[in-house]
Amino acid sequence: MKMKQFAIGLTVFILIVFITACLAMIGYYHLNNRSESGDIPVGGSAEDIVSSISISEPSSQSVSQPETSSIPEPQSPQDEEPSSSETLPSEPEPSQPAEVVTPEPEPNESGDDWRLMLVNQTHLLPDDYSFEHTVIEGYYTFDARAAEALIQMLNDGRAAGYALRIVSTYRTVERSEYLYTNKIAEYQSIGYSAEDAAVEAARWIAPPRTSEHNAGLAIDVVSTDYDQVYGDLMHEFENFPSFTWLSEHCAEYGFVLRYPKDKQEITGITYEPWHYRYVGVEHAKKMQELNMCLEEYVEWLNG
Ligand SMILES: [Zn+2]
Repeated sequence: MKMKQFAIGLTVFILIVFITACLAMIGYYHLNNRSESGDIPVGGSAEDIVSSISISEPSSQSVSQPETSSIPEPQSPQDEEPSSSETLPSEPEPSQPAEVVTPEPEPNESGDDWRLMLVNQTHLLPDDYSFEHTVIEGYYTFDARAAEALIQMLNDGRAAGYALRIVSTYRTVERSEYLYTNKIAEYQSIGYSAEDAAVEAARWIAPPRTSEHNAGLAIDVVSTDYDQVYGDLMHEFENFPSFTWLSEHCAEYGFVLRYPKDKQEITGITYEPWHYRYVGVEHAKKMQELNMCLEEYVEWLNG
């Protein structure tokens, strides 16, 4: 019996020793393997550290991310234009083929000339009006048919020493709605009735679809020296040399001062020395010669 017990005890002891040895070997293997992976270069040489850095660089997100994320960022301001242009009817060809391919008309045959389209309180921009648009100076949307003339006018004015600055060009109907509603609220806050406030507001802000800005044919432009003195669009712009240049030269580029001081009764809009409308060179020069605003000129042509 004693021998049998001794044999069992010895077998158990050998087994324990064997298992312990196996565990020790497994543990050693794991420790050794970890230090080789480079994650923790505990006892590594300088070269190991360098190599572990150079290995981690390409996979490091902090290095690769700025490159990929810096691509969408500069694009986003431009991306906004196409997205804002989604609010523009962007298919002029199918809906209005006749207007897009308008041939140069004779000066006195203006009936369907897009350049002479009246947009005012009594002539609302059609709901389905569409035009091909161009973005100028990286941000401002204008009718593509008139954009080149506008760019030329701005460039020539600047070359002549006037720091012309665009205030606004194309404006969505929704934006007009917002500005108009705000102006009405402004008048109501100082005691005007809703009806009177709407009338007064319309003298400053064209109600939606009565604004040439909705058609992409108008620009509000001042100069940086004016900006330094006045924060808003005011009649005082007429005292600046940049206004003198614009009013004297705009017709050469096909633009007219749309709301002159002496035509307020006819246009229904308060004098705006900053607002210019594209009508084409021959019409602009003729209007200047006849001293007519667009309402008068269109009537004169048709009459
Ligand atoms: Zn304007």
